[in-house]
Amino acid sequence: MPEVTRFAPSPTGWLHLGHAYAALFAHEKAAGGRFLIRLEDIDGTRARPEYEEAIFEDLAWLGLSWETPVRRQSDHFDDYRAALAKLEAQDVLYPCFCTRREIQDEIVRAGNAPQGPDGPLYPGTCRNRSADERAERIGKGEAYALRLDVAKASSLISGELVWQDRGRGRFKARPDVFGDVVLARKDTPASYHLAVVVDDALQGITLVTRGEDLLEATHLHRLLQALLGLPVPEWHHHRLITDETGKRLAKRDDARSLRSLRAGGWTPERVKAALL
Ligand code: GLU
Repeated sequence: MPEVTRFAPSPTGWLHLGHAYAALFAHEKAAGGRFLIRLEDIDGTRARPEYEEAIFEDLAWLGLSWETPVRRQSDHFDDYRAALAKLEAQDVLYPCFCTRREIQDEIVRAGNAPQGPDGPLYPGTCRNRSADERAERIGKGEAYALRLDVAKASSLISGELVWQDRGRGRFKARPDVFGDVVLARKDTPASYHLAVVVDDALQGITLVTRGEDLLEATHLHRLLQALLGLPVPEWHHHRLITDETGKRLAKRDDARSLRSLRAGGWTPERVKAALL
């Protein structure tokens, strides 16, 4: 079956070998189908236009072509707001006024907080605030994020939530791995988890390819798809490219950016050979 895949980089740094692998992987899986690019730039403080231009330049240099126009997340906050409204109508979101500091203090106070893939889980401080307190604090202009009440949301789903990974088989979803995640940040009416699920559906993605570091996120994404009534794609989580010490490449690792390799005389063929 022809697939629709996407490569979804954040324009917050230069692309490196790991991105090249992810882009080539997605492109290959789209053979005979459609390959899309999506710019994940909802973090307005870190996204920069020069990184965005460099993404296109580097991918073209690698020999890839993609459909245009490219979807840029920051152009579509209305789509994320609409999804939040759907979740709000199901009463599975709550405002969270906590600062990072307060969350940390509460975790220390509570003793052994359960750990998720991104660190200790949110201790639920704002989950049970009264409607009056919420209204009063919002009325006073206090900043708040929107969190998913994951236990409540899961209880609305009838039947088993499952998802399929092309490389690893069938998973029974464990949507609570991240606890009550933030779906809208204090400064942005979206978060990675919300935007990626909405966008994959709106772009008609049939096969989500991405690094295995995001495998756990799929458990949560599957729940969001069920709550939002979105089509369910398949996933293929791929290996991560590491340096010679086994550490995964990071954006700040400039020496392995595609542009430094190119400046150092590397050809696209050499990049591809290094990724085999
Ligand atoms: N933007 C994410 C990243 O840079 C990828 C998101 C995804 O593929 O789901 O790692």
